[in-house]
Amino acid sequence: MTGMDNNNVLASTQIVIEEALRKLGYGDDMIELLKEPMRVLTVRIPVRMDDGKTRVFIGYRAQHNDAVGPTKGGVRFHPDVNELEVKALSIWMSLKCGIADLPYGGGKGGIICDPRKMSFRELERLSRGYVRAISQIVGPNKDIPAPDVMTNAQIMAWMMDEYSRIREFDSPGFITGKPLVLGGSLGRESATAKGVAIMIHEAMAKQGISVAGARIVVQGFGNAGSYLAKFMHDAGAKVVGISDVHGALYNEQGLDIEHLMDRRDSFGMVTNLFQNTISNDELLTLDCDVLVPAAIENQITASNADRIRAKIIVEAANGPTTLEATRIVTDRGILLIPDVLASAGGVIVSYFEWVQNNQGYYWSEAEVDAKLREMMVRGFNNVYELHTLKKVDMRLAAYMVGVRKMAEAVRLRGWV
Ligand code: GLU
Repeated sequence: MTGMDNNNVLASTQIVIEEALRKLGYGDDMIELLKEPMRVLTVRIPVRMDDGKTRVFIGYRAQHNDAVGPTKGGVRFHPDVNELEVKALSIWMSLKCGIADLPYGGGKGGIICDPRKMSFRELERLSRGYVRAISQIVGPNKDIPAPDVMTNAQIMAWMMDEYSRIREFDSPGFITGKPLVLGGSLGRESATAKGVAIMIHEAMAKQGISVAGARIVVQGFGNAGSYLAKFMHDAGAKVVGISDVHGALYNEQGLDIEHLMDRRDSFGMVTNLFQNTISNDELLTLDCDVLVPAAIENQITASNADRIRAKIIVEAANGPTTLEATRIVTDRGILLIPDVLASAGGVIVSYFEWVQNNQGYYWSEAEVDAKLREMMVRGFNNVYELHTLKKVDMRLAAYMVGVRKMAEAVRLRGWV
């Protein structure tokens, strides 16, 4: 990319998808098909609020491509959800599934809402309303939702119940990230973070940095960020900085992660309880070994990439680094582990959950963890190998590995 930094997540993704497909030897027709989702449904969901009035929420479900198998990906509840973002997120899910070699294409959903300002019952009605609105295009063998930003196991439970009522039989395989008693998998809740931790270990080994005493900065203290901080702390690293939407905390001796986890609310808010916070910009540019953006898109951009002092960036969030920033940090010798590889742990264990639901046979946490590790390390090695062999940056290498199987499936089915 030249000139200005582009923080339009869909446009940036399309640039890399095109580059990846060209490098793999595919032409314009394949690019034309895979640069957009094959299906995007927009729905208006009427919800009776606690005050008796009806509010209409807008929701989306995007399905990138189902040549490999059913589509798969989370549903986010956030005020900034929009169609372009959901489309880009569905393409990223395809790439994650491709890198992990799962039998899925990518999907993604979202509802424009602020769950922090809604009651429990309003959230239940919204979740059920969303499933009614999208029920025709989803299902255990069509498109399988899961949690994402500000959605959780309880929301998955309501959605699964609603879908089962519509179909008139119990359908645990319709959605993943469910509570354990409803067919959830052991290890699913912390899976994204566990996968990110595995990636940090692999990346540090490549850079010759030891985990013991390493300084880690984590931006975001939601599901991925908070578990990750705990895993790295338990592994002997020093988590020197964390943040949420209110601000960031820094302690060069290492923060007390257990205390912070105890105090965080269900949306990952904790810094509001402290004074002496630092800004988001200060957090991102702290001197550290590993920086983990685990919040939202477009955090590392052309305006701060040259000031990042980490040796390794591991993207636990989806889309935290723009393309221009990717180029800047790569040129500066920082090893970047891109989102579609680093955060694949969630969908990997979602796949295990779906397999267990289909079989009606449930695995131990040790089994889940061992299989997760194996898949993450294989994905890392494939991407890293291509990165060194073809001399392409880590993001392009990840896209090439991620889109390869899908393009081949499209070709074999005779679509292109
Ligand atoms: N929302 C998660 C992601 O972005 C998980 C998706 C899933 O488990 O299907 O990868």
